[in-house]
Amino acid sequence: MSISLIGKSIGESATLLLNETASILKAKGEPLIHLGGGEPKSPAPIDAITNMSGLLNSGEIRYTPVDGTVEMKRAIIRYMEEYYNKKVEPENVIASNGAKQAIMVAMQSIINPQDEVIFPSPYWCSYPEIIKLCGGIPVPVRPEDGSFHPRMQDIIQNVTSYTKAIILNSPNNPTGVMYSEQFISDVVQFCEKEGLYLIMDEIYHRLLFDGKKRVNCYDFASENDENSKLIVVNGVSKQYAMTGFRIGWAVASKKLIQVMSNIQGHQTAGPPVLMQKAAIGAINGVQSGVESLRLTLENNRNVMMDRLNAFEGVKPTKPDGAFYVFADFSVYDKDSCRLSKLLLDKVRVLTMPGKEFGLDGYLRLSTCGSIKDIIEGIERIKWALDPNSPNELFIGERKLVRDWL
Ligand code: PMP
Repeated sequence: MSISLIGKSIGESATLLLNETASILKAKGEPLIHLGGGEPKSPAPIDAITNMSGLLNSGEIRYTPVDGTVEMKRAIIRYMEEYYNKKVEPENVIASNGAKQAIMVAMQSIINPQDEVIFPSPYWCSYPEIIKLCGGIPVPVRPEDGSFHPRMQDIIQNVTSYTKAIILNSPNNPTGVMYSEQFISDVVQFCEKEGLYLIMDEIYHRLLFDGKKRVNCYDFASENDENSKLIVVNGVSKQYAMTGFRIGWAVASKKLIQVMSNIQGHQTAGPPVLMQKAAIGAINGVQSGVESLRLTLENNRNVMMDRLNAFEGVKPTKPDGAFYVFADFSVYDKDSCRLSKLLLDKVRVLTMPGKEFGLDGYLRLSTCGSIKDIIEGIERIKWALDPNSPNELFIGERKLVRDWL
């Protein structure tokens, strides 16, 4: 069979494969603990549901404008005012099928074959694949000091004449690290000086811990809006626990948004009207759900950090936000895909291999589940890996005997 070069360059996702295996196990009634997923468990906000129900009941579900309904754009404009103190016009806004599509159409609008896109490593696993799908070259940058917080010189060292854009995601998936105000300010100014696009993936920006304050990238931008190459991406998936609704957005110069709309128009057309209604409900509605999600996640993070800190040999990084703990498990296995598979096969705990995020030897553990799942999940992992733990473990009625160490 003849497959395109781009088609061949996109690898099978170990993450999706693990998720699929986990779903099959769960459907069979296996006692699975899901520390893999990147989605909060709380229900969607009631304002989202009521706002879409009226339209759903009317049965009149039609196409929408490619870049989002007028009402959707209004809600995003309000959001920008509220959380960024930034006034934008409808032509500066596009609503897409998830932040993922917003990033995809932004990339398709700016990347030529062989253009390079820089992003700190570890990184969200879709960045390199999205860049490759656009014919570009992903340039992951691992901070030289071994930390998960890049310094400006790490970025600058990787800039070449082919560099087209930088992507930052803070707080970060998978590390939970939030980038400092100084760093964001430096990158914004550097991109302006060098004429580079800067994509700020802000999907977790309201999920910060320990009293940390959001950094507003616009505070450091001096380019006027129409010359600006700053693209700010956000969505309802994480903050409102609305992953399945698939609504995200981007805010950028009018010219770029027009190009993104042209592309989106031939890709998926406008996002589904019902989902936009729900997203509008969530954005304009009562916001207490976001704060309660944030508090739950902070508490879950604390519990998970306590358990991991007491786990000999494991080195977790304390997240500043989002809903993952990225932990070094390399003393147990340097091959994170093999380790994840072992944990799923033997003790039915789903984790994500660090290799998918650019760093082998690590596992990404989600804090989205219940405290009970977090505690039991880490206990099972410990039992599976630590030669000092007893040889037997009960999961419900089932007795496991460790025969792999
Ligand atoms: N950016 C990052 C860093 C993410 O983790 C995710 C979801 N995993 C997305 C973007 C995409 O979000 P959405 O569901 O809005 O497509």
